[in-house]
Amino acid sequence: MLSTIETHTPFAPQQILSDSLESHVGHTPLLRLRRTAVAHDIPDTVQLYAKAEWYNPSGSVKDRAALNIILTAEAHGQLRPGMTLLDSTSGNMGIAYAMLAAARGYRVMLTLPANASPERIAILKAYGAELIFTDPLEGSDGAILAARRLAADDPTLFYANQYNNSANWQAHYHTTGAEIWQQSYGRITHFVAGLGTGGTFTGTARRLKTYNPAIQTIAMQPDGPFHGLEGLKHMATSLQPGIYDESMANEQITVRTEDAYEMARFLARQEGLFVGISAAAAVTAVIQVARQIDEGIIVTVLPDNGLKYLSDPFWDD
Ligand code: PMP
Repeated sequence: MLSTIETHTPFAPQQILSDSLESHVGHTPLLRLRRTAVAHDIPDTVQLYAKAEWYNPSGSVKDRAALNIILTAEAHGQLRPGMTLLDSTSGNMGIAYAMLAAARGYRVMLTLPANASPERIAILKAYGAELIFTDPLEGSDGAILAARRLAADDPTLFYANQYNNSANWQAHYHTTGAEIWQQSYGRITHFVAGLGTGGTFTGTARRLKTYNPAIQTIAMQPDGPFHGLEGLKHMATSLQPGIYDESMANEQITVRTEDAYEMARFLARQEGLFVGISAAAAVTAVIQVARQIDEGIIVTVLPDNGLKYLSDPFWDD
C-alpha cells in the first residue's frame, strides 16, 4: 500500500517563488513541553513535543492543506485565472484559502455556520472572502451540504472539497510528517493528532510509518457530538471525511471540552503557549498517552494559537 504513494515534493518549483508568502508555509518549530511534563508527573524518560503551527503565514496548520489543494488544482487545470475557490469551513481553512487566494489572484466563497466565532468572521472579511452563512444547528455538516449545492451547477467555481480532496492529507504526508521525522532526529515513538477533516492525522501518520512502522499513531476526537473543541469532529455523529483513514490509527482517544479548557489555561500560564482549544485538547491527549508508557518521544500538532478564541469565556477562570 504505502509504496504506491508518490514521494516527490508536492510543490512544483515554478509554482512557488522563493520570495513569496507561499514559500513560508510549513517549516514550523518543534517545541519541547518541559513544564507540562513536570507538572503532570511525566518522567524524564518520556519527552513531549509539539509543532507550533501558528507560525504558518495565515496562523494555522491549514495553510499546508490549502496551499497543496490550490497548487494541485492549478496543476490539473481545475483552478484557472478568473475562477472562484469555493469550500465549506468553520474557520482556519477558510482563512488559509482567503490568504493564499488573495496572494494568487483568485476570489474565495465560503459556506460556514452562522455561529462561527466573531474573530474568524472578521478575519475572513478582512481578506475579502465572500461568506455564505448556514444554520448553526446543522453545524459544519450544514455548511458542507450548502457548498455541494452551490458547486453543482456553476462552472466558474472550483469546489476545493477539503474533506474529500487527497491533496489535503498529501500536504501533511509531504511536509508535516517529513518535518517531524527530521526535527525529532528520527526518535519519535508516538504521534498524536486531533481529527477535523482527518488530513493532518492521516497524512502525517502515513508518512511517519514509512520511516518507522513501529511508531504508534493516536487519533484524538471530542468525547461526544456536542462539544466546544472548535475545528474537531465527533466522527460517529458526523459526515465521514473521505480522506480520513481510520486504519492509520493504532489507538483512538477522546477528550472532554472541560479538560481542554483547563489545559489551555495551563499552557498559557505555565508554558507560555497561548494556543487554540484543539491544540489544548491535543496536549490533553498527549498526557493520556504519556501516562501509558515508561519511555518514548511523543509528538503532537498545535493547530493554531489562542487569538481567534479570545471571545470564549474560558480564559477568565
Ligand atoms: N484544529 C483546528 C483549530 C482546525 O481548524 C482544524 C482543521 N479543521 C483541526 C484542528 C483539524 O485538522 P484536520 O482538518 O487536518 O483534521
